[in-house]
Amino acid sequence: MISKAKEIEKEAIISVKEAAILINKKEAINTINILKETISKKDKVDKEEFIVAINSAKEEINSITSEKEAVSKKEVVNAFNKLAETIKNKDTANKEEAIRAINVLKEDISNISLDSAVKELTNLKIKYLGKKSELSLILKSVSKLEDSERKEVGKALNEIFKNVKDAFDVEFKKIKEKEIEQKIQLEKIDVTLPGKKVVIGEMHPISKVLNKINDIFISLGFSIVDGPEIETDYYNFEALNIPKDHPARNTQDTFYIAENLLLRSQTSPVQIHTMQNSKPPIKILSPGRVYRADATDATHSPVFHQVEGLLVDKNISMANLKAILELFIKKLYSNNVKVRFRPHHFPFTEPSAEMDISCFKCGGVGCPLCKYEGFIEVLGCGMVHENVLKNCNINPEVYSGFAFGLGLERIVMMLYGITDLRLFYENDMRFLKQF
Ligand SMILES: [Zn+2]
Repeated sequence: MISKAKEIEKEAIISVKEAAILINKKEAINTINILKETISKKDKVDKEEFIVAINSAKEEINSITSEKEAVSKKEVVNAFNKLAETIKNKDTANKEEAIRAINVLKEDISNISLDSAVKELTNLKIKYLGKKSELSLILKSVSKLEDSERKEVGKALNEIFKNVKDAFDVEFKKIKEKEIEQKIQLEKIDVTLPGKKVVIGEMHPISKVLNKINDIFISLGFSIVDGPEIETDYYNFEALNIPKDHPARNTQDTFYIAENLLLRSQTSPVQIHTMQNSKPPIKILSPGRVYRADATDATHSPVFHQVEGLLVDKNISMANLKAILELFIKKLYSNNVKVRFRPHHFPFTEPSAEMDISCFKCGGVGCPLCKYEGFIEVLGCGMVHENVLKNCNINPEVYSGFAFGLGLERIVMMLYGITDLRLFYENDMRFLKQF
């Protein structure tokens, strides 16, 4: 019993050690490349010659000692044996066949990883230490022995069992460590590489000025309201009293998505949504992107920003409009700015006006900015047209209101002396950092 167990112990320890020998995979593949080269150079390959070449390549494998990027040596050798076996069983071997076979070998070895060494060891462990293994069966049979023998034999067998188990544990640990080491190698970070520079941006001048405008109106009790950028014809035009034949409704001027859907050409639809969904008093500011079918140049862009305001309550008159807008413009530019209202026409307000401010650059004397007029046009405004109020179910006999709208880009350009609108959308940090 004991001698049989000792035999198994010896065999198991040899197998586990053999299975756990690791060699450098690259070097193994190199050996195959050399074999392939040797064969390729020959005019003709005969079978015996090929087998000799394979065996000498196998010898080379045996001399590899490096364990870097290691795989199980046994598996590499097995692959070689498989190749030699295939060739031996053939009647003849020609050069093309030989090279094909070498390519298969190379492929096989490329697919070997440390995982397969672990698998191999696990299989061996089952074979030698599993419940149905010879050693386990011998251990079990100890119970059938006479009392006098049982103790001593049992002790010796337990020791053998433990030796085999220890041998497996040692090799498993070795391979696991190797695996971790290789993983670390693969994931290694080169700390000497220059890092990625984090570029911190600047608040866009459009956002800066918009924030300032928002703050001014919030301080006057207005709320900031957002709305959809895709609108129906009704909200963008009809509800705003813009007649069917108005040029703005032309496809030349507005981006239509479908017959009745378009990219809003003004932020005014937000006013209609608000009036339809809430009761006066209404005090809102609706900034946002608007779209017009304009070609891009220094003063035009197909996308730009508008800021519109609306106030609806009882007893609202032009006096309130003038007071609020004058206060706003003085807070935005300076207290020295003078304002001027010129009569104008908008379909959605009546009466309507355009507001000019005294040139903040020349103080009204005349300069290139104000085109030597002393005043600059800044926004359009007026008393909300009674048709618009009616469209929103607000009784014009009880309520009145004013509305105004300005192009944000224009205001920012004047404020900072920017002469080309396109600079806003190029995101050039050299430009953006100036504000
Ligand atoms: Zn001027």
